[in-house]
Amino acid sequence: MSLRTSLLLRQVSARLPGLPAAMQRLYSLDVAAPLLRTQGYLGGRWVSAGSEFPVLDPATGQELARVADCGPAEAKRAVDAAYEAFQSWKQVTAKERSVLLRKWFDLMTLHKDDLAKLITFECGKPLRESLGEISYSASFMEWFSEEARRVYGDIVPSPARDRKILLLKQPVGVASIITPWNFPSAMITRKVGAALAAGCTVVVKPAEDTPLSALALAELAEQAGIPAGVFNVVPCSREKTPAVGKVLCTDPLVAKISFTGSTATGKILLKMAADTVKKASMELGGHAPFIVFDSADIDEAVKGAMASKFRNSGQTCVCSNRFLVQSGVYERFLDRLGRAMDEELRIGHGSEPETTQGPLINARAAEKVSQQISDAVSRGAKVLRGGNRLHGSFMEPTLLSDVTAEMLCTREETFGPLVPVLRFNTEDEALAVANASNVGLAGYFYSQDLAQIWRVAEALEVGIVGVNEGLLSTPEATFGGVKQSGLGREGSKYGIEEYLDVKYMCLGGLRP
Ligand code: ADP
Repeated sequence: MSLRTSLLLRQVSARLPGLPAAMQRLYSLDVAAPLLRTQGYLGGRWVSAGSEFPVLDPATGQELARVADCGPAEAKRAVDAAYEAFQSWKQVTAKERSVLLRKWFDLMTLHKDDLAKLITFECGKPLRESLGEISYSASFMEWFSEEARRVYGDIVPSPARDRKILLLKQPVGVASIITPWNFPSAMITRKVGAALAAGCTVVVKPAEDTPLSALALAELAEQAGIPAGVFNVVPCSREKTPAVGKVLCTDPLVAKISFTGSTATGKILLKMAADTVKKASMELGGHAPFIVFDSADIDEAVKGAMASKFRNSGQTCVCSNRFLVQSGVYERFLDRLGRAMDEELRIGHGSEPETTQGPLINARAAEKVSQQISDAVSRGAKVLRGGNRLHGSFMEPTLLSDVTAEMLCTREETFGPLVPVLRFNTEDEALAVANASNVGLAGYFYSQDLAQIWRVAEALEVGIVGVNEGLLSTPEATFGGVKQSGLGREGSKYGIEEYLDVKYMCLGGLRP
């Protein structure tokens, strides 16, 4: 126990209703001590704040750790440190920045098991998925370590013989980065990898539910040799969040905000950032349609539905949220999906190897799913699987048929393991329902008809479309939405542009 620390060693009550026997045992978070950081990380130093807030295991409700509850003063210190560090970080050559990001990637890979455990314990995700998230998260450090060296400007043919036109790319400055709990590691690296590669410095405010993964990243940043002040983390409680958020979105030294979270919070942050005209990237809510046409390969569609719906118990912004199935295959799809749910889904603590469905992040989240189910049932939907709320924030994976467009579950994002299935007759009808939303992040459809594939892929009002595929995210491709799903794109060769300005330099006085 000297190098490793065990923070949680308590029993889940044997009286908890509705949980499998496997839940009635001890769960302990056991990770290498240096990775279990509980202080803020400002200007290359680990700092306490006047108070602390608890981090809970959403599966058991047990306290995992108490973390420094940073306030506006710490946020300001972090911004100042980032601003100071920016003056030298922007001068570091792209090649050197690339080497440092690569080292950070290597360290994440080396410590992947411990980093995954942190995710599972603070966010509830099954361990296999947490390992997947760490590999995804680290891949942004790898990708942007490569992209750092490919930030090219342009030399443009000039209309005047005595002038040259040069377009230079320069880092925008300090970026405030505010992230959610559902991908406690990857939502940070997808932004930070791009920002640091471009030559920006950052202040990260992680979600109050999942600060441990963010602080572990800071520990590895330090080990990798990222200079003091380039990467700062200010963890804080829900209570302090608005005050910290205000500093991060209004301080004149901050040039850019990048946020992933709910559309409602994104709008608050955008309004705050407007006064000082900051650049903004926003990855906001989704309401993904999953359309199965008569021509689809139904087994593939079921596989895609399982993957896109039940990852992280349905708590991702690209999770399928509304299932539209054409009349000719409606009954068959329901039958096979129900059977796949019976065979593949196991509820339990995320650290159990057989678990595929962990808890939702908190009881409020489970309550929201329950309400959507009650609303749907009261309007005529049929419960084919599940339907019940279990202990705490656990929710039974639920399959509903006879769903209509008026029900709550088809009008708002669920963020839980609910599959509401609507029936449609024509392609136009499906597209009208799919596009009747003020957000547009991801969309999925299954079809074997090539002409239909082109038509529907173009017509869906989304930023990401999966054709005969349910899992799409990768650093090589863009991530981002249209409508109120956000602004800007992350990942791919475009992600780094969000952290760069283009400067037009006119080199005049050149005698022909
Ligand atoms: P959720 O409702 O799922 O927590 P949010 O969009 O509210 O989703 O949270 C995403 C992130 O935004 C979290 O880090 C949260 O602390 C942060 N956040 C929420 N409100 C504010 C705010 N007023 N200022 C800054 N950050 C905020």
